[in-house]
Order: sequence, then structure tokens, then C-alpha cells
Amino acid sequence: MECEAQAEWAFVFPTQADFLAAVHLLQSKGVHFRRGADPNAYPFHFFAPAGRKSEVCYLLLQAKLLLSGNYEARKTPTPQEPLVFSNAAAPDDILRNAAIVYVAECFADETKLRLMANFSGNAKEALPYLNAILRSATYTPGGPYLTFSKGQRMITVYPEKVAVAKADDLEDGWATVNWVRDLVNDTWRRRATITPSAQRRVRTTALEIFGWLPRTNCRQCGEMTCLAFAVKLLMGEQSFSRCLPLRERNNARKKDVLAEMLGIE
Ligand code: SF4
Repeated sequence: MECEAQAEWAFVFPTQADFLAAVHLLQSKGVHFRRGADPNAYPFHFFAPAGRKSEVCYLLLQAKLLLSGNYEARKTPTPQEPLVFSNAAAPDDILRNAAIVYVAECFADETKLRLMANFSGNAKEALPYLNAILRSATYTPGGPYLTFSKGQRMITVYPEKVAVAKADDLEDGWATVNWVRDLVNDTWRRRATITPSAQRRVRTTALEIFGWLPRTNCRQCGEMTCLAFAVKLLMGEQSFSRCLPLRERNNARKKDVLAEMLGIE
């Protein structure tokens, strides 16, 4: 039976099969729970009253069902449009489906989540290309793995998995996993136009880039502010050439320094 509850725990499953088996088990035992926004879509999860957390854990353990993790659902979920996440893959994708295999509260900020997702496929060959386009990334060839940030989220991409820290909630974490998967696949598709880099780069910050932009907030690049442009430049979501004022003669030095900083010829 499903119910409304104040203090709740979220239970997350790596596969739909484990999720549906858990739902069936709880229904058969008469344990109250509430499903996530869309029970048939990723990420598979439900909420149970905090007072029944131990009982739910025990039942799942007894049934040998796989659980990615559980955490206190601090924000009261509000009714919303179901979030639709595609987990479909194209034939030429280097990374195909994703599954959350671990989720827990962040150590540093208990209102945020950290999670790990496994991919089917292997991105090892794509990492040097990703390193070449993500100017803010720190690449460790010996891993290999690549670390960078997206907003407040810290992301580490390994050949067959991705770790996300400081996600806002489960949906945000899952959206980030899919964003990474799409980024790797798009980068791999464009590899003929990218010079791969296995260099371990000293991390450039958005503020450092911002310091060398014209800082007029003229919006010619399509961003509201120069700082927003700097952040997107670091993430590989903007092109250096979109800042038209940098082409002006009096900004020539700034342009040279930025090109050097970003590794652009
Ligand atoms: S075009 Fe350049 S100067 Fe204008 S807002 Fe964008 S980054 Fe700033």
C-alpha cells in the first residue's frame, strides 16, 4: 500500500527488475511506501517512512534484492511532471546504458547526494579526447580517469563508470550521469576533429578565465555575463570565438593569454 509520510527514506535500485520485485515484496508484506515521480522510469526508487527503514532493509536483504543505496529524503518531494530520462543507446555509442549502483548522502553536505553509475561499454579510448575539450578537467592517465565540475557537482569519469558528488537529488544525479554519457558519446563521434591529449593539466578556474575576459557583460556571446561565459568555456559548452570583443585590437593581449590558458592555437 502506498502512503504519504513526512520523514522518509529513499531506496534506489540498479535495475527495474529489482525495483519491481521490491515493490511486490513490500506490497505483499503490507509495508507502506510511496513510489518516485515515475515508477516506470529511471532512476528506480521509492520512499518508505523513516520508522520502517530497518524493516525494509531487512526484507530486501532476506529476498537478496540488489539495492544501490538508501538515504534520508530531506526535501519533501512535490508533485511534478514525471522526469523522462532516455537510457537508450545509438549504434555508434561508445557508452551505452547506465545504472546507478551506489547512492548515499555526501560526506561534506548531507543535503546533497553522491552516487556511482556503471556504464555498459568502455570509454578508455575516449578519455584523451574528453581531456582535450574539457579545459577545466584534471586528467590522470595512470587511472585513467578525468575529474571536472559541473556547477557544484564534482564528476569523475572512469572507463566504465562515473562518480558524481554533490548532486541536488536523485533526479539531478541521474540527469548528470546521462549528461556525461552523452558528452562522452558526442566527443567520441567527433574524435576525427579533436587532437587527443594525455597531458595532466594544471586546473584552470572560471575566475582565472573571467579575469582575462573583457568583463563588459555585453552579451554578444549569448551569455548573460562574462562569468557565465567563463564557466561554460571551462565546461566545453561555449566556444572561445563567440566572444567578439576579444577580436578587437585593444583586447589582443587578453586574447593571447586566454588562448594560452585554454590551450587554443
Ligand atoms: S561577448 Fe565577451 S565581453 Fe561580452 S559578455 Fe560575452 S564574454 Fe563578456
